[in-house]
Amino acid sequence: MNFARLDPSKKEVTALKLRNLQSGKNSELPVSAMFLGIGHIPNAKIFEGQLDMDQDGYLKTTNNVFTKIPGVYACGDVQDRRYRQAITAAGSGCMAALEAEKYLEDKGIE
Ligand SMILES: Cc1cc2nc3c(=O)[nH]c(=O)nc-3n(C[C@H](O)[C@H](O)[C@H](O)COP(=O)(O)OP(=O)(O)OC[C@H]3O[C@@H](n4cnc5c(N)ncnc54)[C@H](O)[C@@H]3O)c2cc1C
Repeated sequence: MNFARLDPSKKEVTALKLRNLQSGKNSELPVSAMFLGIGHIPNAKIFEGQLDMDQDGYLKTTNNVFTKIPGVYACGDVQDRRYRQAITAAGSGCMAALEAEKYLEDKGIE
């Protein structure tokens, strides 16, 4: 981690190293905590060639959770580029589970 100063004895971050991109000047900002945003890559690569994806790798769904394959549903962060929150993932997970149950019931599979 070369963008932060760490205190190895306490295993804590003590400062962030900043560079002013206009002046090129380096400085340090004392902090006692940081949140590292790592970006978002949907973890859906294993479905490549099987399910439709958009240009960023999100699974494409219709009516929230339906994929192009009957009986296969997608939910949560792999198909949600807008909200990507625990509660929305749980909600769409519930929708997918109910649709899967209905699909199996309609097929007479218990
Ligand atoms: C740093 C960070 C902070 C966040 N803070 C918040 C917050 O404050 N509030 C909030 O609402 N949301 C927050 N989120 C977002 C929230 O965590 C996600 O929206 C939510 O966890 C998505 O749920 P999910 O079930 O779709 O995916 P995940 O929780 O990512 O679950 C996917 C699961 O699939 C498993 N998996 C992956 N590949 C395979 C495979 N090939 N075979 C079997 N299993 C596999 C993974 O191990 C994982 O357990 C945060 C996310 C991050 C990264």
